[in-house]
Amino acid sequence: MSIQDKLRKLPSVDKILGHVDCQPLVARYGRPKALDAMRSVVDEVREQMKNGDDIPLSDSSPWFITKAAQMLEASSRPNLKKVINCTGVIIHTNMGRALLAKEAIQAATLAGSHNVNLEYKTDEGKRGERDELVEGLIVDLTGAQAATVVNNNAAAIFLALNTLSEGKETLVSRGELIEIGGSFRLPEIMAKSGCLLREVGTTNRTHMADYEDAITGDTALILRAHTSNYSIVGFTSQPGYQELSGLARSKDIPFVVDLGSGALIDMEPLGLKDELTIRKTLRMGADIVTFSGDKLLGGPQAGIIAGNGKLVDRIRKNHLKRALRCDKMTLAALEATLRLYQNPELALRNIPTLRALSRDVDEIRQVAVKVAGAMETFFGKEAEVTVMDDICRAGSGAAPRADIPSVSVAIKHSQMNPNQLAGWFRRLSPPVAGRVEADLFRLDIRLIENKKEITDSLAH
Ligand SMILES: *Cc1c(COP(=O)(O)O)cnc(C)c1O
Repeated sequence: MSIQDKLRKLPSVDKILGHVDCQPLVARYGRPKALDAMRSVVDEVREQMKNGDDIPLSDSSPWFITKAAQMLEASSRPNLKKVINCTGVIIHTNMGRALLAKEAIQAATLAGSHNVNLEYKTDEGKRGERDELVEGLIVDLTGAQAATVVNNNAAAIFLALNTLSEGKETLVSRGELIEIGGSFRLPEIMAKSGCLLREVGTTNRTHMADYEDAITGDTALILRAHTSNYSIVGFTSQPGYQELSGLARSKDIPFVVDLGSGALIDMEPLGLKDELTIRKTLRMGADIVTFSGDKLLGGPQAGIIAGNGKLVDRIRKNHLKRALRCDKMTLAALEATLRLYQNPELALRNIPTLRALSRDVDEIRQVAVKVAGAMETFFGKEAEVTVMDDICRAGSGAAPRADIPSVSVAIKHSQMNPNQLAGWFRRLSPPVAGRVEADLFRLDIRLIENKKEITDSLAH
């Protein structure tokens, strides 16, 4: 049979779509999607035949239907999927940062499934203010006079600067002009907020006199930013919070601190020495602090602005707040997370990020040994598996200098180099993300509570 004859024998898309076996596809995906898929399968087969490929085509409809079903199934898989984080970065920005406590998930589910009193006073039947859902808790936990919440910490800084310094100068030390993860650059945020950046001092040393000399009638505030993802070591100097706040007070301008992570409880017992709590920062004289909800706090993505009542009130009344506010599910999850902090022991136990940070190394090692056993069984002679002491990081700019002890499962494969092996693990379902360090592929186990979380991926 010539190619032309064969092409003529191809069934029409309409005929296949009318086939009884095709009806479940039409019902599940809808006629337009099923039609598109069938068209591309037939087109593909036509191309292959033109290239001389031998396609078996006796009663061809079921064959086309199977192909189209596979295509439709693949394209209907959710884009967002679970990833197993064995990278050794606990709060991983690219993987969605903090995991929510069960209580926070329940609250978000409630808010998503029902009408709620988001901005509604049930007693009076009047309009309320969404900040009130969490403000009292933040005030209790930080000692601030007032608080307001926006979409993330970048928005919090933006809104605070726009409110307090638009058209005027903000002083920042040259050592704090930070970039975080490529998309957050303090100078850019400042420019967009309409305030003028006045750089003070040098990269490694900034003195009180530098701030004093820089203050003019145009100065609206002093900003201090937590140098999240790096630290300047060696010949360095920075005035303390108390000194800066004293200077700001004497000039009658606010002192604003971008804390980044936002620890609500003392993080030193968890091995994070450099993270000041919000309460301490306010006590040392910050008028406003801003911090993220989904870093060390362990809640949903949010930016919290806390501090002086009058200043917070001005920030809250800024019309841009409307564009930066968070939704009901975020506020629900944030409220539930903050409630856990009312009993710090409960917070440590129930907030996954804090639990991960406080896990005992021996407990992690026990899980690592089980994971290693499963890897040995799976790979057999192909791989050499070892359990090794390792170091992991808090991530997302929290405590950049803290080495957190952890345990990794290291795998050397006879057929794949470390990067190929990392790729192989990433293509599992769910993907397992490890890291390659010192030419060795490792799975950090600090976030893994049960070996099944990893071995399930091997079974697919
Ligand atoms: C993470 C961070 C930010 C950005 O916070 P988002 O919540 O990601 O917007 C800003 N400043 C500092 C110091 C940070 O660590």
